[in-house]
Amino acid sequence: MYHYVQVPGLKGIHPLHPDLFEKQLDWVLQNYEVVVPDDLEKPRQSKPRCVITFDDATKDQYEIAFPILKSRGIPAYFTFMSGIFTNRKVPVVHLVHAALSFFTDEEIWEEICSKFDTSQVKENSQIYSYEPDIYRRYNKYALNFYLSEEESRSVLEPKLIEKFQTWDRFIESYYINLDEWKVINHAGMSIGVHAVDHKPYCGVAERFFANEIKPCKQFIQEHLGFSPKWYTPAFGGGTLYQDMILKLRPVLEKEGFAGGFTTLAGFNDENNRFWLNRFDCNRIPPVGNFE
Ligand SMILES: [Zn+2]
Repeated sequence: MYHYVQVPGLKGIHPLHPDLFEKQLDWVLQNYEVVVPDDLEKPRQSKPRCVITFDDATKDQYEIAFPILKSRGIPAYFTFMSGIFTNRKVPVVHLVHAALSFFTDEEIWEEICSKFDTSQVKENSQIYSYEPDIYRRYNKYALNFYLSEEESRSVLEPKLIEKFQTWDRFIESYYINLDEWKVINHAGMSIGVHAVDHKPYCGVAERFFANEIKPCKQFIQEHLGFSPKWYTPAFGGGTLYQDMILKLRPVLEKEGFAGGFTTLAGFNDENNRFWLNRFDCNRIPPVGNFE
């Protein structure tokens, strides 16, 4: 499971360095047959199989990871978010990443405190205790969990517009654009659905499919000319992921999906043929130390 692959520079995120990406690919190729998801069921060669997956469709994946994969003839699976094209609306999770990259934590924290009562933030921000910077910890907790989506947007959007002037410019610089998607598609990579607006599972399978999956599937059909068969839920489904695993599968199957990729760590065998486990490239233990 890959997200950002780039030279560290954006402070708000923890990207995988391209050199380390190449080392991981070397290791994977030695030990696995790398395939697109559609080929998981084909008769097996000697090695077990591996799918290289990318979430969130960020620009670095097109500019850095894709050329490396293409030049080495390695297939991979990329996932599409349609809301940025249809609504020009950037998911809060990426507004947070971007804002924390371009502005100091002190600056953002000061602004949050000037607008909202943040007395509960300090003691509840423990989930981000891995963040050494205390203001980074407060900011991430406040923006991702404590404030409502509208409140977070009211802090983040004006700051990013100050930097990019328009959302079109932000989206063009932050995400894979449609022409680039066509290049990825023609190169033989697999493309699946990630989300419309990067929302976690809402608890009602039919409604979630109608809002967060179907419009993305249709957008891919319309603009890339094929019907996607694979799905990667945003946030791995979020807090209701267990419910999602049970209830969303029949809806997805009815709509022609062959499987989905979770954020649960683990290998896959004949017992989990629909929801597939993954290993996060940034949490390496099961696949060796690449430092
Ligand atoms: Zn995502």
